[in-house]
This record gives sequence, C-alpha cells and structure tokens, in this order.
Amino acid sequence: MIRLSQACLGQEEIDAVTRVLQDGYLGMGKEVMLFEQELQNYIAFDVKVACVNTGTSALQMAVQACGIGPGDEVIIPSITYVASFQAVAATGAQPVACDVELATGCVDVDSAKKRITSRTKAIMPVHYASGAGNLEGVYALAREHGFRVIEDAAHSFGGTYKGQPVGANGDIICFSFDGIKNITCGEGGAVATKDKAVIRKIQDLRLLGVEKDTEKRYAGQRSWDFQVKEQGWRYHMSNINAAIGREQLKKIKGFSQIRRSLVRLYQQELVNLPVKLLNINYDEAVPHIMPIVVTENERDLLKEFLYNQGIETGIHYKPNHLLDRFQKSHCPNSIQFWNSILTLPLHGNLLVKDVLQVTAVIRQFFKQA
Ligand SMILES: *Cc1c(COP(=O)(O)O)cnc(C)c1O
Repeated sequence: MIRLSQACLGQEEIDAVTRVLQDGYLGMGKEVMLFEQELQNYIAFDVKVACVNTGTSALQMAVQACGIGPGDEVIIPSITYVASFQAVAATGAQPVACDVELATGCVDVDSAKKRITSRTKAIMPVHYASGAGNLEGVYALAREHGFRVIEDAAHSFGGTYKGQPVGANGDIICFSFDGIKNITCGEGGAVATKDKAVIRKIQDLRLLGVEKDTEKRYAGQRSWDFQVKEQGWRYHMSNINAAIGREQLKKIKGFSQIRRSLVRLYQQELVNLPVKLLNINYDEAVPHIMPIVVTENERDLLKEFLYNQGIETGIHYKPNHLLDRFQKSHCPNSIQFWNSILTLPLHGNLLVKDVLQVTAVIRQFFKQA
C-alpha cells in the first residue's frame, strides 16, 4: 500500500526521547523552553512562540487570548479540518462558515465580507494545502473592520510567505505538529505572534490558568501559592513531545526539499491529463498535502481505482457548514470543492517511484474512461 501520509522519523528522535526518559522530567520543562527558543529563531527574532499540546488547542487559546467568547463570531472557511471549527466553538464563540475560492481552497474574501456582523471579532484563514490564498485580502478586510486574524497554518510550517517564514508576519499564527504534519512532535502545536500580551495569556491558559507558572517551570520550580483568574486548560506541551519536535526542526530543510520535489514531479507527470491542480506557489509553500481536482462524476471512481491498485487517497475536507453541530450557510464553492477534490499520497518517505506509480495508475484510469 502506498500511504497517503506518514511521519518521517529516525534514530535522532528515538535518542532524544530516550534522553528525556532517562532524565526523568517528562512534563513541561527545559525541552519545551528550548523548542520555543529554536522556533523563535527559525521564524523571526521579534516573534514569540508558545508551544502547546495540539494545533486545535493552539487555535482555541489564541481565540480566548483575544478576549473572544460567548456572543462573538469568528469567520472560518468551510473547507478546513473540523479542528478549526471546534476550537472556536470551545471558546463559546460562534464559528461562521464562509466560502472558499475554487482555485486555492482558501477564504473567498467577498464571501467573508458578507458574513461580517456587529458580533464579528476575528477571521481564521486556513493555509489550505500550505497555500496562502488571498491572505492579503483577508488582512485588508480585518483592518477595515477592526477584527483579529488568527491564521490556521497547520499545513504550512516550514514554508514562507512573501519571502519570510510563515509566522514571521501577521497577527496570530497557529501551527500543528501532529503525527502527519510537515514536522511532528507526536502530538503538538504552537502559537506565534508579535503580540506579547497574547503569548503571556496563552502561557497561563495552557497551565490551568495558573499565573506565571511557565517562568517557574522553566526555572525548574513549581508554584504552590498562585493566582487563577480565568478558565484555563491542561494544554501545555510535554518534554517528550518537545524533544521529538526539536529533532524534526533540525531536519526541516531536507523535509521541505523532498516535499517540494515530489509535488513538482506530480505536476510534471499529470500535465496532459484531465486533472486540475490548485494555484499554490511552491517556491514559498512546503506542501503538506497534494490535492488534485477532477470532475464530480469521476472523483469517487478514481479514488476506488487507486485504492484497488494499493494507493491510499484522501478527501480534504467535508465542508463544516454541513455538520449538524454548526450553523448552516450558503457556500456553493465549498460543496463543489468537496465533491471534486482528491488528495494523493505525499510524505517525507514517499519515493520518486511511488509518485510515478500513482501517476501511471491515474493515466490508466483516464485511458479506460
Ligand atoms: C491538523 C490540523 C489542525 C489541528 O491540529 P492538531 O494538532 O491535529 O490538533 C487544524 N487545522 C487544520 C487545517 C489541520 O490540518
């Protein structure tokens, strides 16, 4: 079976975890502190980073740290993992689905504009398949109406935006380091921002709201007498997960080269087939997934054809406005996108011959059709 996605791990990660286990301090301590410093150095000197247990909790606490909650609304493109919607809903705020552009799968700014009300406090653009889409338009809209931008950059760690690392510019940028993302901690996430008040807030929120517990833990101490003023969570990152992340971060350049060259090979091999590719600049993006667009009639047939030849594929994502938990919305592009998208295998262990096999099977499918 050619897998859709997979973590890319080596002896370095095994050794790093062993080191933490032998040291015996498994919770949030020195490894997390170092990982945060290394992420800051990687992203930008004037950006602060807080590491947390998942990308979902990074999004949730970013929303909470902006003072957004019950009675407020956050606009999100309907095409995203349910994590983005649940993260907003967990704060008590209402996730409001907007439509996406068919060419990128990212926020359609005109659609987002129509969703603005007096309760809108933020927009959460998603870097779909690592592309930025019309992020500039999103920021212009947010500036015009005075609300926050919380980027779901779960797909795009390691890439650049306008020549600088994703996370270096913008309001609040959230990453995921779950098992299949561009780098992994096993499970993990991070918030990057220049807004020091937001980072300070998240440092407390991730430790049950215990004020200034982060500083104490990094100094090898612990709080016995402390203050709590708002709802916090057990969302901190552990030293074990941070140790994996630190090794993965050292390998980001190699991972990026592999992912980009595999996508370029896909592009080259699919060129004369009735398959459309998204409008993503791979000089900047480090691709997390490789979606292709076919007709709505062919999509399920192609998926099954590939599966029968040992090739796993995915569908990213079911529009969130169709889920019972969330508000209904009119997002025709999202429905069309969902019905015509198919994600091909892409990960750091995938070989050139695997891509050639996948594309050969796709060619065979269209020859038969
Ligand atoms: C992976 C992902 C998340 C959530 O990250 P976790 O670390 O799995 O909680 C959020 N949004 C998108 C688009 C994702 O792909």
